[in-house]
Amino acid sequence: MKSAIYPGSFDPVTFGHIDIIERAACMFDELRVCVLYNKAKSSLFSVEERVRMLQKVTENIPNVKVDSFTGLLIDYARVNDIHVAIRGLRAVTDFEYELQIAQTNKLLSAGSLDTIFLTTSLQYAYLSSSSVKEIASFGGDISQCVPESIAREVYAKYPR
Ligand code: ADP
Repeated sequence: MKSAIYPGSFDPVTFGHIDIIERAACMFDELRVCVLYNKAKSSLFSVEERVRMLQKVTENIPNVKVDSFTGLLIDYARVNDIHVAIRGLRAVTDFEYELQIAQTNKLLSAGSLDTIFLTTSLQYAYLSSSSVKEIASFGGDISQCVPESIAREVYAKYPR
């Protein structure tokens, strides 16, 4: 069985992430979407909330499984026998950061974990979880950024 993992913070999941999930799910027998605890980022949603939101927006894609992990991606991949990581690329600005992570993962996994990059669909090229949070914090419209059920949860974090 060909499996891949799509790791990220997903704080919160956006249409950009969902687009990558739908496209990657067509390429593999199983796609594991994994919320990784990221020390460098302070998050709005708990890991459990992010997992629940991802489960909600992927419930109609049967070969997608949602999970979470505190630790290195390569360790999760090794234990679960996964050899492909999926990452999304929006603009050139993503490239250097993503290239560095991909090469580090390849090195640390002794060659066992490769990264496949999917380029963003153009309508989501400027969409990020950070911009969703910023817009919502000022009461702005995020309906073009996240599904309605997710938007409700984001607004609930910024009572006005
Ligand atoms: P990170 O994993 O760096 O904490 P995210 O959870 O926001 O960041 O993103 C997870 C992955 O999804 C990254 O590879 C990121 O480049 C990609 N991604 C985020 N937003 C989009 C988008 N709008 N279009 C395509 N890919 C995206």
